[in-house]
Amino acid sequence: MFPFYAVIKTIIGLKRICPECNKAQVVKPSQKRVSVPCRFCEAMIPASESEGDKNQEYPDGTE
Ligand SMILES: [Zn+2]
Repeated sequence: MFPFYAVIKTIIGLKRICPECNKAQVVKPSQKRVSVPCRFCEAMIPASESEGDKNQEYPDGTE
């Protein structure tokens, strides 16, 4: 098996880009689904769903 690959995938899922200063940072696994403050400018960075979790759909059907 390739646990290393799983680690990489997890890290990518934990990566956030601050909407204020556009700096990337990695959050803790425990913070994966919560908003976290940016380390650089302290703006709140909302949780990202871009790591392959496709169970959720936009309830309002935004296109
Ligand atoms: Zn920031």
